[in-house]
Amino acid sequence: MANLDRLTRLANAVEEQPRALTSSLSAEQVRLVRLQYALPQAIDQQEIYLVYQPIVCVRTDAIVGFEALARWRHPTYGEISPTVFIPLAEENGLIHSLGKQVITSACRQLSQWRRAFPQQPSLSVSVNLSVFQLGQLDLADHLEQVLDTSQIEPQRLKLEITESALIENSKVVEIVLQKLRNLGVQLHLDDFGVGYSALSRLPSLPLDALKIDRSFVANGNWEICEVIRLLTDKLGLNVIVEGVETPTELEILQSLGFQHMQGYFFSRPLPAAAATALLANACASSPQRPTLPGGMSAEIALAS
Ligand code: C2E
Ligand code: MG
Ligand code: MG
Repeated sequence: MANLDRLTRLANAVEEQPRALTSSLSAEQVRLVRLQYALPQAIDQQEIYLVYQPIVCVRTDAIVGFEALARWRHPTYGEISPTVFIPLAEENGLIHSLGKQVITSACRQLSQWRRAFPQQPSLSVSVNLSVFQLGQLDLADHLEQVLDTSQIEPQRLKLEITESALIENSKVVEIVLQKLRNLGVQLHLDDFGVGYSALSRLPSLPLDALKIDRSFVANGNWEICEVIRLLTDKLGLNVIVEGVETPTELEILQSLGFQHMQGYFFSRPLPAAAATALLANACASSPQRPTLPGGMSAEIALAS
């Protein structure tokens, strides 16, 4: 909290003596200080909300789940990216309460979808976890409680963790991962390939899937994508490709044997109501399994 106290004092000074201080700080530094200062209240007042990006199976055209992504609508600065406010929340310890809000709200949303679309019982929701949350021994207890309240089977919740969370090899993280495993939730390794890939540890980690970082697709690193797919086959893991933006990328990835994908080509992350409309549309066009309306081009149908 020392960090937060220091920032609070700095933010107060920025508010009270704007000219004196802001002349020595860049506009971006002032923005960050103000955001840091506003973050506790934003979390309390639930100014942070979730958008949902579909994850699709390209073999069946079905939406298999949604990734929940956090957004902050700030009264002055507009929409703030999670790449800005998640590190701020990590710095001042607010990530724990923010992380709990994200989990609770994503599970509540999945529960509503399950009730509204009973023909889609295997729909899942993916939630990003900060490395700091993995250091919390009561994380599994909180998850168990949320799953129980929202009546969601644990395997329908996928927790996305990054490689950096694993390289530290901390005992606490190991215990927490095992607890999550025992609870039955799924663990997905996010942004695979760009961090310190702990390849030697992969077989022993309690993982269910790898998500290939979107930079491999953007840079056309197809050999690497294929090698990762072969690796997941060998290890008995599922694999999801992130950042698919064009029909050509989709075609190449399909020819390499990938089935599960996510990216702007299918849909941008959508507000909850639009994601619900996407599901409703998909269920109407294929009552047995919701497919993307108009084949693969759901983005054209719904993305704003
Ligand atoms: P991520 O988990 O890897 O999420 C994927 C990011 O790629 C999202 O950015 C998404 O909007 C973006 N994306 C999806 N498809 C495409 C595409 O086709 N092209 C391009 N260029 N981008 C695409 P977003 O929402 O800005 O999130 C950024 C990162 O912030 C996330 O990366 C995740 O690490 C973190 N994050 C987001 N929400 C949360 C949260 O609730 N908790 C935590 N701890 N981290 C979060
Ligand atoms: Mg993710
Ligand atoms: Mg990712």
